[in-house]
Amino acid sequence: MNTSRKQFIKAAVLGGVGASLAAESASVTVCNPLLRTPLSLIIDDSCPVINKAYYWIKQRHEWRLRHAPDKPGSGWERHFDKLDKMPNTIPSAFAAKWGEWCGEQGVRGKFSMVPFPAGVGRIDRGFDGFPKNELRDWLRVTKEIIWQNFDLTPEMLTHTRVVDLKTWQLTDAWEQGEWVDPPVELLTDYITTAMQLLKNVGITCEGVTSPGAFGKKKESAYARAVLDAALRVNKNPQPFYFLHMKLSAKELPDVPLWHVDNANGRAVASIIGCAGDWFGATGFDTANADLFITEDLRGGRLPSVLEKERPCILVGHWPCFYVNDGPGFKVLKEVKRRLDAYDPDRTKTLWMKNSEIGHYWMARTLSDIKVESADRVQIQTKFPTRNFTLGLDVAAKRVKVDKRDLWQVSSRRDFRAGTFLVEGRRTFLAFDLPTGKTTVTMIKEGS
Ligand SMILES: [Zn+2]
Repeated sequence: MNTSRKQFIKAAVLGGVGASLAAESASVTVCNPLLRTPLSLIIDDSCPVINKAYYWIKQRHEWRLRHAPDKPGSGWERHFDKLDKMPNTIPSAFAAKWGEWCGEQGVRGKFSMVPFPAGVGRIDRGFDGFPKNELRDWLRVTKEIIWQNFDLTPEMLTHTRVVDLKTWQLTDAWEQGEWVDPPVELLTDYITTAMQLLKNVGITCEGVTSPGAFGKKKESAYARAVLDAALRVNKNPQPFYFLHMKLSAKELPDVPLWHVDNANGRAVASIIGCAGDWFGATGFDTANADLFITEDLRGGRLPSVLEKERPCILVGHWPCFYVNDGPGFKVLKEVKRRLDAYDPDRTKTLWMKNSEIGHYWMARTLSDIKVESADRVQIQTKFPTRNFTLGLDVAAKRVKVDKRDLWQVSSRRDFRAGTFLVEGRRTFLAFDLPTGKTTVTMIKEGS
């Protein structure tokens, strides 16, 4: 599969539009959206009503005492001694405050909504032992505030123990433990059920989040199950999943596409995080803005990814934004302040939802783009996207997309969908790419 970031299409110039061009070839490059590097914030482990970390630690501790009492606790379970400092609930009022801050700041990304979190309550039924209005308020905040800027996804059903779909009882297997390698025949039903619970409360999810390494050992089957479940529940032919992180300096993130069916416009995108959760995870783990981007804007993981113009996707776990006085929220505010300083005129970066990144990479990788002549480019696609951005090796004085004239702008700051920009002998143009056929026509300088 071609997952290369740039797709080059070259064709000989056929017409004799300008003598100087006659012997050259025209080339088209699909650039990053609006010539900016995507930024995105992934929030994992967010649930209606409950603090997942509290229940995860408690249930994992009880599970280990039953099954492996001689083995020491690992991962978050090491925080068992801090349970009395962790609330078992995170209020909807805080989610509203957090979501409004992200909206004001233009931060976009993905926000998990675990549909049957820790088996405590179903999002479509209620949570015994918690005030009734909390679930109602959580759903309102999620749909009216957070959904504006974030995709909502299940993070499978409980994010702790596996649910027996016939009895709705919790089993002794863990979604991210024994089910790192789940049985293939159950995968689609399990993911379908997770998506359906969200659908039952009016949330059409754009994809899924893997709890831990869920599905990692059979990624192809997992990706297929995500696509099939998305089609079944939401008629969504182009979903995404979040499973992988690339953290080391040697690795750069990309957007791999799986199970491409060009004829039917189907594919599933793997969204890859590029930085560790340095927001503080449970609220008691490493929280350090410098690991993302240092005060001088040169050190940390993010500048190295941004320099290479790869999707720069941050990952944080929801509890740390609230628990223990919210170290994660403080780090997020500082990281956002530094990212703004890194890109003061907003010409280098663009905050996007995960689904928008997936759709853009599908369009850039899977569209059929032909240079028909020196002044005409034809695009045929079943993968629509916003802000589709092309670079052409000509200086244009007029550009049309189908019958529409694009507006010429003179700086990258003003470059947006519906405009074109000439830099030296290159022209960049951006438009929302629809399904079907699109024709780009140019009139060059000097013609
Ligand atoms: Zn998680």
